[in-house]
Amino acid sequence: MTSPLLPTYARAELSFEKGEGPWLYGRDGQRYLDFGAGIAVNALGHAHPHLVEALTRQASKLWHTSNLFQIPEGERLAGRLVENTFADVVFFSNSGAEANEAAVKMARKYHHAGGHPERYRIITFGGAFHGRTLATIAAGGQAKYLEGFGPKVEGFDQVPLNDLEALRAAIGPETAALMIEPIQGEGGIRLVDNAYFKELRALCDRHGLLLIFDEIQTGVGRTGKLFAYEWTGVAPDIMSVAKGIGGGFPMGACLATAEAARGMTVGTHGTTFGGNPLAMAVGNAVLDVILAPGFLKDVERKGLLLKQRMAELKDRHPAIIAEVRGLGLMMGLRTVVPNTDFIAAARDQKIILIGAGDNVARLLPPLIISDADISEAFDRLDAACAAMEAVLKTQARPGAAQ
Ligand SMILES: *Cc1c(COP(=O)(O)O)cnc(C)c1O
Repeated sequence: MTSPLLPTYARAELSFEKGEGPWLYGRDGQRYLDFGAGIAVNALGHAHPHLVEALTRQASKLWHTSNLFQIPEGERLAGRLVENTFADVVFFSNSGAEANEAAVKMARKYHHAGGHPERYRIITFGGAFHGRTLATIAAGGQAKYLEGFGPKVEGFDQVPLNDLEALRAAIGPETAALMIEPIQGEGGIRLVDNAYFKELRALCDRHGLLLIFDEIQTGVGRTGKLFAYEWTGVAPDIMSVAKGIGGGFPMGACLATAEAARGMTVGTHGTTFGGNPLAMAVGNAVLDVILAPGFLKDVERKGLLLKQRMAELKDRHPAIIAEVRGLGLMMGLRTVVPNTDFIAAARDQKIILIGAGDNVARLLPPLIISDADISEAFDRLDAACAAMEAVLKTQARPGAAQ
């Protein structure tokens, strides 16, 4: 079967025709429990009535006007983000990579405005993922994404995660900022402890660097706080957001303190689509739900429940699952078997998981997941593990065909 799409994805032989809450309805006539949420995007599940209502109401009024005019829905969304975070100002983009591009440009311009144009280098961390534009693949530093695309964009230095000595050694007179995911998503749900974040903050303060948090995957309630930095005990100067903020509508944002944003004056940056009324209406609707009293507390509680159940799964199937890690509803199962095999076995049991680095299968259910559906996920993954164990047993049998 040839497809007219550029073949940059190894797509599963599966497509869907509709979604409802945490459920996806496949064109194969099957119903799937969606623990991928479009890679942490469908924060409120599929076809959430409040989002559908906000989108369709806005769609019949006004879609796009350009940023040459005031956009009151955007002012409102930015105001709510500012009110609920460390930030003073917000720039809206269409995607995560563009939010990171804005963050990188802002950090460089900050030093330029302060009379230090030579300070433009950004330190990033091993295993990072920051997007697929030329600058963000340089930031991520992964050979597999850089190879063949010409010279790597200048100005990114990478140090191993959780190695303070290497970080101290990498900071030089040209360093502008550090950029880190509070929890590495694509890298495999890799966490570091709060002492590390405190040290990052202290190093930034000591050397006059900006601290950039990439919360594109961790943000918007995913970990049980509106943003994951709230767990770390420190605040960044700049933060990129995307994925969950649109609940499935493509949008992103770069948040910053007024100080960090001092260089971003009229004409220094822009976007045609970013922050248009349609996106802003949906973003506000997402916040209506997530900021409602008790919502985030419940995400935190469900995160603990999910973690307990996954620990139980690991205990039952040590030949399949090596480790459970994560925070809130951002969970990773490091598997003994290849993670891709485990994800395929899970799909056979009609539950969608997502791969990540470090041989991890990610569980990123929509934040509206119910306790009953967490139990349902356990049962399906339990069945997936049992099916894999049965195969392993056949393979181990002497004389078994390979
Ligand atoms: C997904 C992701 C990105 C890239 O976002 P796009 O919308 O795909 O450009 C950047 N950083 C992190 C941490 C992500 O998870």
